[in-house]
Amino acid sequence: MCGIVGAVAQRDVAEILVEGLRRLEYRGYDSSGVAVIDNDHNMKRVRRLGKVQELADALEIEQVQGGTGIAHTRWATHGEPSEINAHPHVSEDIAIVHNGIIENHHVLRELLRERGYTFTSQTDTEVIAHLVNWERRSTDTLLQAVQNTVKQLEGAYGAVVVDRNEPERLIVARSGSPIVIGLGVGENFLASDQLALLNVTRRFIYLEEGDVAEVTRREVNVFADNGEPVIRSVVESNAEHDAGDKGEFRHFMQKEVYEQPTAIKNTIEGRVTHDSVITDSIGVHASEILEKVEHIQLVACGTSYNAAMVSRYWFEAIAGVSCSVEIASEFRYRKFVTRPNSLLVTLSQSGETADTLAALRLAKEKGYMSAMTICNVAGSSLVRESDIAFMTRAGTEIGVASTKAFTTQLAALLMMVVAVGKQKGTVDQAKEKEIVQALHALPEQIEAALKTEKEIEALAEDFADKHHTLFLGRGEFYPIAVEASLKLKEISYIHAEAYAAGELKHGPLALIDADMPVVVVAPNNELLEKLKSNIEEVRARGGLLYVFADENAGFVSDETMTVIKMPHVNEITAPIFFTIPMQLLSYYVALIKGTDVDQPRNLAKAVTVE
Ligand code: GLU
Repeated sequence: MCGIVGAVAQRDVAEILVEGLRRLEYRGYDSSGVAVIDNDHNMKRVRRLGKVQELADALEIEQVQGGTGIAHTRWATHGEPSEINAHPHVSEDIAIVHNGIIENHHVLRELLRERGYTFTSQTDTEVIAHLVNWERRSTDTLLQAVQNTVKQLEGAYGAVVVDRNEPERLIVARSGSPIVIGLGVGENFLASDQLALLNVTRRFIYLEEGDVAEVTRREVNVFADNGEPVIRSVVESNAEHDAGDKGEFRHFMQKEVYEQPTAIKNTIEGRVTHDSVITDSIGVHASEILEKVEHIQLVACGTSYNAAMVSRYWFEAIAGVSCSVEIASEFRYRKFVTRPNSLLVTLSQSGETADTLAALRLAKEKGYMSAMTICNVAGSSLVRESDIAFMTRAGTEIGVASTKAFTTQLAALLMMVVAVGKQKGTVDQAKEKEIVQALHALPEQIEAALKTEKEIEALAEDFADKHHTLFLGRGEFYPIAVEASLKLKEISYIHAEAYAAGELKHGPLALIDADMPVVVVAPNNELLEKLKSNIEEVRARGGLLYVFADENAGFVSDETMTVIKMPHVNEITAPIFFTIPMQLLSYYVALIKGTDVDQPRNLAKAVTVE
């Protein structure tokens, strides 16, 4: 979850490390630290509780100098966020930063205590530091010590180790948490995400599962989990330079909401003509795979799960293919039955979501016909391990609460629905044309939806002092309501729940009173009349309603119901369109409440722990 940065150079690296951490701060941000070694073998460690800025201030005062260093921004899993628990952790001359969880840390801790080590933190990470120290006593090289150490670890790690006595060497290991090595000229770097290094290099080596690498100023030597040297290819990145910059916007989330017209345009570009979906653009062999597919199993977490839920309605209604959706952390531990000719589709913004990745690996063992991922990060683990990677092109998403990744996932899913339907003969030319044209129209329609900003900003006042909110929708707008409630929870800390509107009378109606705003997503579709009845059920019980309605749906504001009229759009793409005002609502409520919009408490961006 956390951010890792490392550098080995001739110049002082503290500044590069801190800049890298800043770029990764969205991943974990409860504390941070660096350890830097100079040519005289002095190692200086500085750690701070709180944001990276605290560390930056401390480093300025302490004048940390040296050409080799490791840095970390933490998202605590074991032990409270505190300076003592912040990384790097040291064991005499060894220092280490770690991303992930060591599941057998209890056993190792006991063992190391017996060997005479004392622990200064509550973290699982500290056992790695002592283990490397122990192994170093009986091995010739630091590399070997780390290789021996990782064999004893259970769980997930991306870890970087330095030894004060070998000031020009970083040893890095990857298993379950991503690590990328950035190649410079006469200097090299590493990080848990290439984003951290875009200001120093564009050339990257992605480590594979089980790899351990030795990185010096001039060389990178990678060893596979069997200890043999391997060559991992160098990839030139074309990621945007300014992804880490908020520009004119107040928050990354706001910027990313506004980037959605472009993000959708980029995602459909080259994949659709003016009236058809280009099946081959989904991936090599996509046509053959989609033709054979009889069942689609979508697996995801969080916002990606909500996108998958929307697409279930589409896959069955439009493409006529059976589809199920499951939360990755449930799927991976359940004894499931694999239906014949099933396609597994994972969804993840980062492509590193630990549970989703585990689900993919399991599905491959359990006889799925093929595995596809819909993902936003090129080179990520899901992309590399899937048969087909259908990339969303949302651009780097930094706000922890996902926005443009969600809407581009929906656009990608809709193209896939059409592609499946075409292969199966369930989507005819007229339907295909209708959907493709609706996709083309979306960017402009989203621009229009963004214009409701002022109205929604005013409305947000009504929510800011509430403790609970209910979101309602029907059909594919039910998962849109779920996503809206997740957004509000994440960034405003207001308890929010979503219900399929027809489910109200089976329990949640008991909650309705004037302190519980009820937000309704009301497109003009065949379920409108049913939805209107559900709205009346709320009104009859004194509930306060906020209805985001298609302009033709016939809603009028009155004392107990505020109607926000949305321009009419095609029914099929309407779930994507109605997401926009929901994002704005949670954003403005959070602004009024003064919460940390981009880095909400307790959360992190790329969830690389299970
Ligand atoms: N499990 C480690 C800790 O709690 C690492 C957490 C992280 O990935 O930031 O310190």
